[in-house]
Amino acid sequence: MEEKLRMTIVVPCFNEQESIRLFHDEVERTFCSGPLSELDHNILFVNDGSSDDTLLIIKQLAKNSDNIEYISLSRNFGKEAAIFAGLENSTGDFVALMDADLQDPPNLLEKMFLTIVNEGFDCVATKRSSRKGEPLIRSWFAMFFYKIINSISKINLVDGARDFRLMTRQMVDSIVSLREYNRFSKGLFSWVGFNVKWIEYENIERIAGKTKWSFWGLFLYSVDGIIAFSAVPLALSSFLGVLISFFSLLGIIFIVVKTVIFGDPVTGWPSLVTIVSFIGGLQLLCLGIIGQYLAKTYMETKDRPIYILKETSLKK
Ligand code: UDP
Ligand code: MG
Repeated sequence: MEEKLRMTIVVPCFNEQESIRLFHDEVERTFCSGPLSELDHNILFVNDGSSDDTLLIIKQLAKNSDNIEYISLSRNFGKEAAIFAGLENSTGDFVALMDADLQDPPNLLEKMFLTIVNEGFDCVATKRSSRKGEPLIRSWFAMFFYKIINSISKINLVDGARDFRLMTRQMVDSIVSLREYNRFSKGLFSWVGFNVKWIEYENIERIAGKTKWSFWGLFLYSVDGIIAFSAVPLALSSFLGVLISFFSLLGIIFIVVKTVIFGDPVTGWPSLVTIVSFIGGLQLLCLGIIGQYLAKTYMETKDRPIYILKETSLKK
């Protein structure tokens, strides 16, 4: 008998005790009928150091059904690390990545699966069709970020892209082969290439619990993204240096000539002070940019594991 193809659904979970059962029920329902029922499937929960009953609930679910697996990390490593842990331990021929909060509708899985199988894509990714319901300032910031990163890096990020996607084994393997410590998954998904089809859906509110993102968190995340995929800020600081040196040179010539012709060498100290502090600020800015890259390099050279496993239902 021919072996059935299998889909693994990877679900990073951090304090999701209210959502997990609902998520599980909804996913099982989508696999009951239609083309997806022809597939084997398993759900791989990644407990990312939750401090609530998330792990307990996952264990209960795993006890009652043999297509539920879990890995539990030794602390909260962040969503990026949880995604990596899930992908690295996934075994299916197809791998879906989903939030536990049902913001990623499981009923799209069927369409995504058929697109890969029938149209020959390697990945079906999703994006929200609008930023409705989001604070205006956050939308502007996001738009600005996507403009910048797309123009200064070789990768192409899609505005509104979610992490919800279905990939073939081959694509998952190539993502797992990128073992960098500072992981910016949206960039890595784009960097590995392959044929990706984008589908859109209206943004859905979380079923329960709270989002783990604050504005500041998102800001730092976007800086990470830029540093991980572009060296343009470094080039920009050199450019700034050249530009300022050039104008200073013009200024020096002007002052020397003026002093020789008209005398009066000591007026203008307020402008001197502002210029000096302006340049001082720019220098600190550029030093900061270099420092950001250096800090990332420092973390990478330590070669620490991306996550640490505490317990799992997987048999290795
Ligand atoms: N998550 C995680 N580790 C974290 C933060 C979040 O595994 O440190 C999980 C979280 O449980 C959820 C998914 O990542 O399943 C997305 O998080 P969230 O819903 O807060 O983000 P949003 O959907 O608002 O972008
Ligand atoms: Mg969410």
